[in-house]
Amino acid sequence: MAKWVYTFGGGLAEGGIALKERLGSKGAGLAEMSALGLPVPPGFTLSTAIGQQYLANGSHFPPELAAEVDAALAGIGAIAGRHFGDSEDPLLVSVRSGAAVSMPGMMDTVLNLGLNDQTVEGLARVSGDRRFAFDSYRRFIQMYGDVVLGLDLTLFEERLEDYKLSLGLMLDEELAAENWQVVCDIYKGLVLEELDKAFPQSPSEQLWGAIRAVIASWNNPRAAVYRRINSIPPSGGTAVTVQAMVFGNLGATSATGVAFTRHPSTGEKVLWGEFLPNAQGEDVVAGTRTPQDLTERARQETGSDLPSLETMMPETFAEFRHVCEALERHNRDVLDLEFTIERGRLWMLQARPAKRTAHAALKTAVDMVHEGLITKAEAISRIEPRSLDQLLHPTIDPEAGGDIFARGLPASPGAASGAVVFTSEEAELARAQGRKVILVRVETSPEDVHGMHAARGILTTRGGMTSHAAVVARGMGKPCVSGAGTVRVDFLAGTMTAGGRTVRRGDMITLDGGTGQVLIGAVPLREPELSRDFAELMSWADEIRRLKIRTNVDTPADARAARNFGAEGIGLCRTEHMFFDVRRIQVVREMILAETPAERADALARLLPMQKTDFASLFEIMSGLPVTIRLLDPPLHEFLPRGDAEIEELATIMKISPARIRARTQTLAEANPMLGHRGVRLAISFPEIVEMQVRAILEAALEVGDQAGTPVELEIMVPLVATKAELDLIYARIHDSEAQVKKLHGRAPPFKLGTMIELPRAALAAGQLALSATFFSFGTNDLTQTTFGISRDDAATFLNTYLSMGLLPHDPFASLDREGVGELIRIACERGRATRPELQIGVCGEHGGDPASIHFFAETGFDYVSCSPFRVPIARLAAAQAEIEARQKDDIDG
Ligand code: PEP
Ligand code: MG
Repeated sequence: MAKWVYTFGGGLAEGGIALKERLGSKGAGLAEMSALGLPVPPGFTLSTAIGQQYLANGSHFPPELAAEVDAALAGIGAIAGRHFGDSEDPLLVSVRSGAAVSMPGMMDTVLNLGLNDQTVEGLARVSGDRRFAFDSYRRFIQMYGDVVLGLDLTLFEERLEDYKLSLGLMLDEELAAENWQVVCDIYKGLVLEELDKAFPQSPSEQLWGAIRAVIASWNNPRAAVYRRINSIPPSGGTAVTVQAMVFGNLGATSATGVAFTRHPSTGEKVLWGEFLPNAQGEDVVAGTRTPQDLTERARQETGSDLPSLETMMPETFAEFRHVCEALERHNRDVLDLEFTIERGRLWMLQARPAKRTAHAALKTAVDMVHEGLITKAEAISRIEPRSLDQLLHPTIDPEAGGDIFARGLPASPGAASGAVVFTSEEAELARAQGRKVILVRVETSPEDVHGMHAARGILTTRGGMTSHAAVVARGMGKPCVSGAGTVRVDFLAGTMTAGGRTVRRGDMITLDGGTGQVLIGAVPLREPELSRDFAELMSWADEIRRLKIRTNVDTPADARAARNFGAEGIGLCRTEHMFFDVRRIQVVREMILAETPAERADALARLLPMQKTDFASLFEIMSGLPVTIRLLDPPLHEFLPRGDAEIEELATIMKISPARIRARTQTLAEANPMLGHRGVRLAISFPEIVEMQVRAILEAALEVGDQAGTPVELEIMVPLVATKAELDLIYARIHDSEAQVKKLHGRAPPFKLGTMIELPRAALAAGQLALSATFFSFGTNDLTQTTFGISRDDAATFLNTYLSMGLLPHDPFASLDREGVGELIRIACERGRATRPELQIGVCGEHGGDPASIHFFAETGFDYVSCSPFRVPIARLAAAQAEIEARQKDDIDG
């Protein structure tokens, strides 16, 4: 028969931390502490399996559960020496939620359960404190009314306020026992009035009501949102812990508080926390009274004139400190503890791994390795790779708060404040004048790159996680919020509006690219600092991981940054990005708009030296490391002039009529440019582009190789290939250019030829492609776009609906869709390696920097992932974690 109920208390426990999935982190922590012989009030936990079953089975419990609960309640009674429902000396319990992954404050709790009109009198007698008894009763009615009966808390608060007013009193402290007794009657009257049903007097009915409500709170909107943000699966359900109450509100020798075994913000090895004398748990959270420091040291630091626990109750504090040390040593992690002191006696109510800042997580993990508490692998596994963003970019000061104007996608992490501008020209001008600006666009195009460079951050109202703005901003390491669909931009008026509010050109806003928030005003930021701990942890990750980490860069500055972050080569150089510069873009436009091969050759001749210098500097910076260059792949529309002014300007430069440019632009206009004349198709139509690019690449490699005395590790790849015939044609052209270089220079540098896999057909025909290609680089941005048939650039308008309705578990452009796109990748790897066992396999889509996707690539046998420079450390850590997990799995599988 299944076991539903797990008891703890009196120095014993069924289960412990190892059963966290079943007991929830709270239940498991209590069991673990109890088994260690620490002072824990006795209790029992209903497993998460009960929670799941109840929610799935139309709110029914298995029939045998009632008897198990009764037996467990009797067990608590035996340890506590008082019994549930006994009117002379009643046992009161708390009923609390606790999922396997802790979700602080998201689900419900009921305290003081078991009080009714009789037991409250018993409690008053036994405690010798009538005021305390009736205060506890009214707290219970209020909490139960809210959590179980679904009444609005403010109804209770209003009645209490009215009553105090009628007495001419302001503070709860001023109410006497008789007053609280009246409040209890008022509250019961309120319940009857609102629900037409009396407040339940039967302790057993109260208990089952609370258990049902706590289980159901798993599905409350607050918890659902928290799970979505933190990628916690919706299936887990919550356990329910029922535990004997202890009271921190029994006078001056009682107290309740929270503590962290190390500082949760700085990671410093000091006990840190807060408490309130003569209070119950919710008072600490409610913020109505000022909590006091636990230690003298903290009190001195905060300059508080309220005494610390250390001085108020030195003996109990010493015991508490001892318990904290023992628990940290036992759990080998920083813990978040809740405790209550009842008339001088310490009780532990919770121990769970502490939530901490990225900075604290890093410091405590590295410190604990040095203290011999954990292994390097454990330290690595404890750091959430994405949290490194907090260490690499400025972030919003957590104390700062902020007024949210709108939300979009968290497209590129970091935070920035600046005055709003609506064009790239304004952004550049502002930078020249030394002003900080945020560039706001509907979406960006290559022409905005100079404006993006000049701006502190970028906000777009359209476009997804792989839109132009997102990809380019990530490359630059600049904050970007994309696809903020509720924002309407009026360029003419120089305003943007959202939710009925208007922000004007020049107004300050702050972007948080890590959360997707757009805030009004300049919110204080925290600058990143890279500590020695960071370097040390990274070096441990490098020792462990097998996956290589390359970077996607197209400029020397980004390449240098990436190398500093530990990149082991370039996995993608998007050559079209090299043309973003305002002067070059005109030449590119000339090349694209050329009507004859001669015109095109002229533009290309001017591009050749520019490309050559670009490549040469990348080769120099990456000396000794592989560099993969991709042949030109612009969806042409990105480069075409827009609007009359641009057309006129280009016409003057090209010395042709604007009308001719307009006509040519119209000929080139495509209904669906993302699926149009781009990638290999461009190389097929315009052989001279391939010829120029390959010459520039090979000549630059020759020069740099000669200077360095070792050849450049050069790889050339072709984008958007679907068939072997396409690939063979382009390879033949590349070899023609190689022959030309040989003729000119007497030799050509060695290089590898590969292909991108960006189309389902390419993935399926991978066996064929590998006959010609020696490496595959998965372009998962396009592969996701083409597999789902969802436009990368337009996804933001409807993808959010999909996500909020749960139609997709996550944005497939941000984190790889294993089921569909992943399956194509697996097929391609298998077929490719069947043809060519030594085939090198990498990924250069945005997923190359996403930790969950990196696990997939590691499992699938990739050689490397390539990502934007600022994500290189994240990828290094995620790759090490993937390796650690794989080893653990091997150990388990034997
Ligand atoms: C891709 O499609 O994943 C890729 C890397 O190419 P781009 O983003 O330039 O289309
Ligand atoms: Mg692509």
